[in-house]
Amino acid sequence: MSGIIPAVPREARQGVFFDGESAAAHEVRIVLDEGAGLLLLRGEGIDVTWKLDEVRLVPDQAGQGGLVLRSATAPMQRLFTAHRDLAESFPARHRPVKQVDRGRILRWALAAVASVALIVFVLVPTMADQLARFIPPEGEKALGDATLGQIRGALNENSSIGVRVCRDPEGVRAFDAMTERLAAGVDLPVDLTVTVLDHPMVNAFALPGGHIVFMRGLLKEAGTAEEVAAVFAHEMGHVASRDPTRHALRSAGSIGVLGLIFGDFAGGALVLFLAEQLIEAKYSQGAESDADVFAYSVLAKAGVAPSALGAMFERFRAKSGDAEGLAAHFLSHPALGDRIEAARVATPKGFAARPILSEAEWVALKGICAR
Ligand SMILES: [Zn+2]
Repeated sequence: MSGIIPAVPREARQGVFFDGESAAAHEVRIVLDEGAGLLLLRGEGIDVTWKLDEVRLVPDQAGQGGLVLRSATAPMQRLFTAHRDLAESFPARHRPVKQVDRGRILRWALAAVASVALIVFVLVPTMADQLARFIPPEGEKALGDATLGQIRGALNENSSIGVRVCRDPEGVRAFDAMTERLAAGVDLPVDLTVTVLDHPMVNAFALPGGHIVFMRGLLKEAGTAEEVAAVFAHEMGHVASRDPTRHALRSAGSIGVLGLIFGDFAGGALVLFLAEQLIEAKYSQGAESDADVFAYSVLAKAGVAPSALGAMFERFRAKSGDAEGLAAHFLSHPALGDRIEAARVATPKGFAARPILSEAEWVALKGICAR
């Protein structure tokens, strides 16, 4: 039989379609037609038709939402729907979209950022939590990359490339080793990208797309590799719950996202604003406690006593009030004392700690900004 599959009533399947060109979200009815393909209907006319074997699934990072679909031939369009059962109808849903040349990848990255903006523009910022799971991973990564570039620029206005990234090879190897040991057996929605910036600020923060950024000042201030690992594990907690992405969405929504939509996103006022928001991100007390609790378990798995997090907080507290010692994201709640105590309590009596780095690795890590 050809024609529209009758098993499911036509009105049963709804979706939201973005055409990739305008900011409008189109409510569509979704109809599967064996012959024609996936039909997206608005009103009575057929707006868009995707061939069934060209429909691809965009991974939903949070794993709890509906489907995000795209067509292999129209990379900027997206269809969002709650009807997960639809996925079965697309034989090539997991097939990667064919590799393309660099120019196209760049344009797609820009388009991905624009599509993030479109979604934000269409839906109010209070929906940030629900929206975050619809952002395609490449869009989140592009937003994180752009924000990191902006932060580097903002921290050093005297240089066109901004504040330097520390790349001493032995230091990088030591940090890679720490990353590997902490991330082993931890389920994160994205791969981690760790960056050390050559800046005296005592701070570390997470950005969208799995970026974790340390400042040289924090490495200098830390007394042990375990204290660095504790901050690292805390930031992994923010990555795991995608706090930076939701924070960016909320912040962007509140001032509008026209700058993102009309290009100039790398130098735009919006990304600068986001950079400031994220570098001093003030997450909710709940988000901070969740990241702390996440850190306890990551640390314990890696053989590090959770109390190391409290030890680092003590240092932040001692440094606060110092102009260079800004660690706003850690000091944003008055309950720092409670968090120090909680980290101590989270460490079981007789915990068998083992070093997260060798002595040589710790020395190398401390020297990562030598080059
Ligand atoms: Zn935090």
